[in-house]
Amino acid sequence: CGIFGAIGVPDAATFVALGLHALQHRGQEAGGIVSFAPGVGFNSVRRFGYVRDNFTSSDVMQQLPGQIACGHVRYSTSGSKGAAIRDVQPLFAEFAMGGCAIAHNGNLTNAEQLRAELIDRGSIFQSSSDTECIIHLMARSIQRSIPERMKDALRRVEGAFSVIAMTRTKLIGVRDPRGVRPLMLGRLGEGWVMASETCALDIIGAEFVREIAPGEMVIATPDGIESSFPFDAKPKKFCIFEHVYFSRPDSVIGGQSVYETRRKIGVELAKEAPVEADLVCPVPDSGTPAAIGYSQESGIPYAMGIIRNQYMGRTFIEPTAEIRNMGVRLKLNVNRALIRGKRVVLVDDSVVRGTTSRKIKEMILDAGAAEVHFRIASPPTQWPCFYGVDTPEREKLLAAQMSVEEMREHLDVDSLAFVSLDGLYRAAGEKGRAAEPQFCDACFSGDYPVEPTDQIAAGRVR
Ligand code: 5GP
Ligand code: SF4
Ligand code: MG
Repeated sequence: CGIFGAIGVPDAATFVALGLHALQHRGQEAGGIVSFAPGVGFNSVRRFGYVRDNFTSSDVMQQLPGQIACGHVRYSTSGSKGAAIRDVQPLFAEFAMGGCAIAHNGNLTNAEQLRAELIDRGSIFQSSSDTECIIHLMARSIQRSIPERMKDALRRVEGAFSVIAMTRTKLIGVRDPRGVRPLMLGRLGEGWVMASETCALDIIGAEFVREIAPGEMVIATPDGIESSFPFDAKPKKFCIFEHVYFSRPDSVIGGQSVYETRRKIGVELAKEAPVEADLVCPVPDSGTPAAIGYSQESGIPYAMGIIRNQYMGRTFIEPTAEIRNMGVRLKLNVNRALIRGKRVVLVDDSVVRGTTSRKIKEMILDAGAAEVHFRIASPPTQWPCFYGVDTPEREKLLAAQMSVEEMREHLDVDSLAFVSLDGLYRAAGEKGRAAEPQFCDACFSGDYPVEPTDQIAAGRVR
């Protein structure tokens, strides 16, 4: 998901809408914005679909007045898949000390357990979202202010959370102690903004101030910002898949350009898995920076062998298998005139179910390619993510079922190679993967930094 908040700027909701539009790649199912204006109170608009279709008309934006607002673009990883407007964030609750809206990116690993416990003690849930646990935990806290209640609540949840919350007077940003999901702080005129990624600061011309640190809570008011560290410190575990795929290439994370990390993954791949070929082609758009790196390192010319229809969203993000299956052809087409008779290196960011790679290989052979060599800019995805990226169950992950050679046969390509974990860490600016890894890489290694409590309780893992 993507989250964005603004305080101390006129028509804050307009900036939130623009920020969410820049974060649309993080979630395309639905979006919502909550704002507050003195004398008017809290208002919210929650809709299915793209930000550009829902939050551009003046009719809608007039419903969201005020100098403080926050919003969310949703991609369901927890709660019900598909349509349920009650699951669309920001969630809102009215406490004795005033209202509070919450937008959450990440996934809580003990939400089911907490929900059962809270329901047992009388909480009435309104949604199927894991985020709602935070609200009920806040309601039960005996603290006197919303930020203090939030600290109480967040100390009880486990897993990944970057949260942007707002009250009548404050914008609050918090990251879980491991910092699994990103969260940025920016300055916009006299006001403050918070966003999942720096690309959302760029779109509104906000100045990047700094990253909110793992375990940090930042409270912004028009008077300034206040920082605290409410949780026990934990080893940092930023999601390495944000670098591989999830974040936008024009974002900067941990002082590193995402584009540059991806380009370097391509360089690593070319070193680890060279091949003789005529063209290096990306699977657009996610494979593009790595393909550029592969081409630069190998000296094999880069070319656009596959053309993407700009009017389709990310295929994977659609929640049902039927849509996903059709998606590849709706979205990508082979540049036949270029491909015919050529030995082609195809670079993609990841293989999950293998749907994309299979379809693309068929299309490209159909177009008369002489050889097809797949190079993948991440290690084999062998484990599901429980921290906010929608990977399917283990049984559906191609790499959980097959060795690399079996996958090569299954995809029926001339060669197949994945970047190594160490190569990926090198591209991300490390010497290699340390004994205590510098990132979360559980979907590649099975090394889960936070125990997936609910999954274990349900017998879904191990
Ligand atoms: P597959 O077709 O193998 O199931 O999925 C691989 C394709 O989906 C890749 O081209 C990649 O760009 C995209 N993708 C890979 N992992 C994820 C993910 O976790 N979330 C989303 N939204 N897309 C992904
Ligand atoms: Fe990111 Fe993978 Fe860890 Fe999930 S399991 S947080 S996708 S690195
Ligand atoms: Mg892709």
